[in-house]
Amino acid sequence: MVKMPALFIGHGSPMNAIEDNKYTQNWAKTAAQIPRPEAILSVSAHWYTRGTKILSAAHPPLVYDMYGFPDALYRVEYKAPGAPALAQDTINRIDHEVIIDNTWGFDHGTWSVLCKMYPAADIPLYQLSVDMNADAQTHFQIGQEIASLRDRGVMILGSGNVVHNLGRINWGMDAGMPWAEEFDDYVKGKVVSREFDDVIHYERAGESSKLAFPTPDHFFPLLYVLGASQKEDTLSIFNDSCTMGSMSMTCYLFE
Ligand code: ZN
Repeated sequence: MVKMPALFIGHGSPMNAIEDNKYTQNWAKTAAQIPRPEAILSVSAHWYTRGTKILSAAHPPLVYDMYGFPDALYRVEYKAPGAPALAQDTINRIDHEVIIDNTWGFDHGTWSVLCKMYPAADIPLYQLSVDMNADAQTHFQIGQEIASLRDRGVMILGSGNVVHNLGRINWGMDAGMPWAEEFDDYVKGKVVSREFDDVIHYERAGESSKLAFPTPDHFFPLLYVLGASQKEDTLSIFNDSCTMGSMSMTCYLFE
């Protein structure tokens, strides 16, 4: 079986789900270039929970977990089937306690990206939450524990943003503020050189790390992808830029 990629997507604004822009075009292009997964496990910034949860329903609903956007965004459909057996298999691989929770569904961290990558919604899909009580090292370790799913036809998708500070956003800006660019560059350098300990301990970036995000929900999905990556993978980086002052769109593909 072909080994599936581990992919981190900087998802940015939920509007990307209904816009056609330079970011979403690269998401679609990437999907066309990589082997087609048999299933997708999404670790979404938008499922930030106490403890680690997993979605195991056969047909999870969509969660429209964003507020104040145009109606069209609340009409997006993404009826991918779930992956109950794989969810159980995934629980077995993780040392940390994982609880089945089907009160959630596919949130916009997942569907805003996948509706561009796989618009037919015909690939089984399930989600793992980001435990707000776990430290960065634990998130990375869970990534290592699920790495072997890549040999079972499962693509591991982390959906978040390396820089995500909504309180400092400037909607009209098509670049990042200096500290945003600095933190994004710091992380990029450490990912390229596989110095993952310096990503886990991102505070080593200095001042920029204090501004990059008020809470790490959008950053932690990257650690799952890094944990699931292998030395022999080829790394491609795309959409590597900041926008709106305080949002990084940078994506990392390991295949
Ligand atoms: Zn988000």
